Amino acid sequence: MNKHHQVVIVGGGTGGIMTAAQLKKAKKGLDIAIIDPTGTHSYQPANTLVAAGLMKYEATIRQEEKLIPSGVSWIKERVADIQPDNNEVILENGDKITYDYLVNATGIQINLDGIKGLKEAFGKNGVCSNYVDPKYTWELMQQFKGGNALFTQPATPIKCPGAPQKIMYLMGDYVAKHGMEDNTNIIFATPGTMIFGVEPFKTELEKYLLKYNIKQRYGYKLIEIDGENKEAIYERLELPNGSDNYVVNDERNAAGCIGYVWEEGVQHEVQEKNASFQMGKKGVHYTIKYDMLHLAPPQSAPTWFQKTKLANQDGPNKGWMAVDKHSMQSTKYPNVFGVGDVTDLPTARTGAAIRKQAPVVVKNIIQLMDGKEADCKKYNGYSSCPLVVAHNKMLLAEFGYDGVRMSDPILSKLLNTGKASYPLWILKRYGLPFMYWNLMLKGYDF
Ligand SMILES: Cc1cc2nc3c(=O)[nH]c(=O)nc-3n(C[C@H](O)[C@H](O)[C@H](O)COP(=O)(O)OP(=O)(O)OC[C@H]3O[C@@H](n4cnc5c(N)ncnc54)[C@H](O)[C@@H]3O)c2cc1C
Repeated sequence: MNKHHQVVIVGGGTGGIMTAAQLKKAKKGLDIAIIDPTGTHSYQPANTLVAAGLMKYEATIRQEEKLIPSGVSWIKERVADIQPDNNEVILENGDKITYDYLVNATGIQINLDGIKGLKEAFGKNGVCSNYVDPKYTWELMQQFKGGNALFTQPATPIKCPGAPQKIMYLMGDYVAKHGMEDNTNIIFATPGTMIFGVEPFKTELEKYLLKYNIKQRYGYKLIEIDGENKEAIYERLELPNGSDNYVVNDERNAAGCIGYVWEEGVQHEVQEKNASFQMGKKGVHYTIKYDMLHLAPPQSAPTWFQKTKLANQDGPNKGWMAVDKHSMQSTKYPNVFGVGDVTDLPTARTGAAIRKQAPVVVKNIIQLMDGKEADCKKYNGYSSCPLVVAHNKMLLAEFGYDGVRMSDPILSKLLNTGKASYPLWILKRYGLPFMYWNLMLKGYDF
């Protein structure tokens, strides 16, 4: 069966719903269809709170049909392919939907098979992820009686890159509250080179790393999980300045061996005596034992999408949707736009970023409909990350392209967003969910 709509939006998540609602507000009579097979939508930013017992999972879920803006058609099917040369979307059931304008908002794909042993270990053996099942993280947190709590992330791009550390601070808070500091090692192992790339947030976060005595390991690429033996195996990456002195905060609990170094097949115990312990060379494999492991799994653009002509076919952004970084227009097809996690924009993939992207997409589509150029190039890479650092404290990192700090003009008059505080926590727990469901998904541009 073939059908035509003026605007087709593939993906009815954060970006798809927000764009549809804003388009409807901008031009009432538009014929818009959203294609998405899922019956429910979850407010993913709250996963962090669910995982620390600070919010009920059920409160983060809504029925998709309640979110589809009135007057917008919902095609409850999965897309198999997009053929932009024919202005055509092919559904898995074989139907074809043609369009005048297309918005691709298909989000990011979680790849549990992207790391050896992860799929087998996940959901048991102490391995959890707020990207998949925050309820299980909370279960593990409650079962934790001390030992190594390892927090880690992959070398691929991920959505909300702050999320893997938010839950770590909440773990630190939980451990302190339950008096387990002396028999707990919290370890952060990341392929990155620092805790956060933008000041003053980096300095503020460092206070919490110290407060919770978190051991940091930079240049660590997770390559394997051995679920039965509760071991995470890393490859050491080359760090930018050639330094291998990247373990911090190891002064306390120094007596314990928390890992092994494998060099030329020989296993050495790692005795981390002080903050300047030399962690060895690039390419060497390290094993870290864990009692609880939280990770962000490897992520990518959806596999089917990577094969379409809208995706970059090579280069560092291979697979992601190629868009102009200021106008959100496809670099190849002028009547096609991208929004959200699936795009190749060089900024953090978040719902907050979409809040600033959707109005640009809408403006440009309306301009094209009016016979003008898609010359709204207002998107400046804005993204933000509410970094929860305790059960009652949060700081709000806002930034744009090239790591330039940005600040919401109203909020920054009222609060210092670079300092973790209780009022910001209230914003995270109550204000942002309210704004998400009642303003952002309803098409308000604010
Ligand atoms: C743990 C965690 C914490 C986070 N914290 C924050 C935060 O504090 N602040 C923040 O702003 N953001 C946060 N985020 C990120 C934020 O949730 C995402 O960036 C945002 O939801 C992305 O929106 P999207 O529209 O690109 O993708 P999604 O909302 O994921 O929507 C994609 C949609 O596409 C659909 N789809 C996929 N494939 C197909 C197909 N073949 N056919 C049809 N439909 C398809 C899916 O069903 C889905 O509904 C967090 C995310 C996680 C996981």
